[in-house]
This record gives sequence, C-alpha cells and structure tokens, in this order.
Amino acid sequence: MSTPSTSRPSGPLRLLILGGTGEARALSEALAGHAGFDATLSLAGRTRNPVAQALPTRTGGFGGIEGLVHYLEAEKVDIVVDATHPFAATMSYNAEQAAHRSGIVLLRLARPPWEKVPGDIWSEATDIPAAIARLGTAPRRVLVALGRNEVKALEAAPQHHYLVRSVDPVDPPLALPHVRYIEARGPFEEAGERAMLKENRIDAILAKNSGGAATYGKIAAARTLGIDVMLVARPPHGNAQTVGSVKEALIWLEAHTGRD
Ligand code: NAP
Repeated sequence: MSTPSTSRPSGPLRLLILGGTGEARALSEALAGHAGFDATLSLAGRTRNPVAQALPTRTGGFGGIEGLVHYLEAEKVDIVVDATHPFAATMSYNAEQAAHRSGIVLLRLARPPWEKVPGDIWSEATDIPAAIARLGTAPRRVLVALGRNEVKALEAAPQHHYLVRSVDPVDPPLALPHVRYIEARGPFEEAGERAMLKENRIDAILAKNSGGAATYGKIAAARTLGIDVMLVARPPHGNAQTVGSVKEALIWLEAHTGRD
C-alpha cells in the first residue's frame, strides 16, 4: 500500500467519508474524537430511519461531480474516503473524478466480494435483469435480497412467488400476483436465515455479491439447504487506492498524520 502525502503541514486532516455501509459506520466510530482528523460522514439519505452515527453527518447528494468538487474545495477537505457500498458505482465514479480534479487524496474502502466455496450453487449474472432471467420460466419461490429501488425489475418475471426483504417498505408495491414483503435491517445470522428459508419454502435467492459478514448468512444457509443463488456480480470500479477493511483504512489514514 502506498501512502500519498497531503499538502496540509499541521493540524487535523479534514476527512470526508462517503458512507451508507457498516464499514463507514465503524470507521466513523473509530475516528470520532481522534485528534488527527476532523471528519464528516456523508449519507445519500435513502434510508428512512438511519442508525445514529458517531461523526457529524451531512445528508443528500452533492449534485454530481461538479457539486462534489465545489464541496471538497469549500470544506477544505484533505482526504476523501469512499466507503460506499460496492454497488454504489455512480458515487464512487464521481468521487474519483472530483478528487482527481481537486487534487485531493482518495482512499476507497471496499470489502472483498464473496468467493464461491464447495457446496455453493451459484449462478452469477452481470446485472439484475440477467439474474432474474436465470430463475427460468417455471415458477419458483424466491427470496429477493435487493434494494427496494431495484426490485421493479421483478415485474418482468411474474410467474415466481417472491419474498422481498428490504430495510424500508417497497412503495409503490410491485405489480406482481405473488409477492410478500419483509422489512428488516441486517446483520442476518446464518441460523435465522436457514429457519426463514425453510419456513417460506424458498428454492432460490436473488442477491448482489455485496461481500462482508452482515449479509453472508443467507449465502451460507443456502449452501447447507442446497438452494440456488442468483448472484449479481459487482460493477467495475476505477483505479483508486483501495483497502478491504476498516482496520486497514485506519492504518492508511494514520500514516497521513504521523500520529498513532
Ligand atoms: P449511487 O447510485 O452510486 O449514487 C447515486 C447518487 O446518490 C450519487 O450520484 C450521489 O448524488 C448520491 N449519493 C450516493 N451515495 C452518497 C453518499 N454517501 N453521500 C452523498 N450522496 C450520495 O448510489 P446508490 O447505489 O443509490 O447508494 C446510495 C447509498 O446507499 C450509498 O450511500 C450507498 O453506500 C448505500 N447503499 C447502497 C447499496 C447498493 O446496493 N447500491 C446497498 C447498501 C447501501 P449526487 O450525484 O447528487 O452527489
């Protein structure tokens, strides 16, 4: 890992953390009260009742690359940490472009994707419509673990029985003959996921390859139950310096302050 230097000679480094993930929350907790950093967390504002955060928080889009460049310069940000979800490709792209244009250091914090292990029955697709098509034409009982803004695509395959799980309600409801909704926020443990899959007689799961422990329970449970997983692969990302864990991000950040 290289550690590019920032231009600020002394004083706390001004940090912007692009969040919306458990990693961003954990990093915020680790940095709250840290003498070396003056950090702000940014959330998109999608979740109706976001969990409390340890750092000062701003909410809502910046207004594209231009808006982010303006924010970075107005707030004299030294380092941007892109800790958005691996599927938040637009925000990551904008962060890379804006940081480049402003000459600001960018660190990406992205958990590694899940890797297939023996016993997994995965069908990997490049996007959500392709993953839905992989369910086939015969009716199936499908757990849908996608964002509520992504589930409209299910209407292309109305023959299946869907159990849609999301943090906030799906509104408006989907135009589908067989659909039920669960509102729940992870983490989800394997044992609970196994019980839920059995109780609902699920025979396929539709999910993104998000990586991380918080939502891996359904993947592990599917393995033991012999359930098919239609897994959407991650969108491509740019060339930003990347770390895979909060611990590594802290080490990288500490290297910029010269403190510990
Ligand atoms: P996206 O498609 O990459 O971003 C769309 C727009 O939302 C961005 O251009 C930006 O608006 C705004 N935005 C996104 N993240 C932001 C942040 N942290 N702070 C301020 N503005 C932000 O993002 P998305 O996939 O809709 O995800 C939205 C949020 O949900 C992210 O914070 C992400 O970490 C979280 N999340 C996403 C997923 C997922 O599967 N996509 C899953 C869990 C959590 P402007 O262009 O106006 O700046």
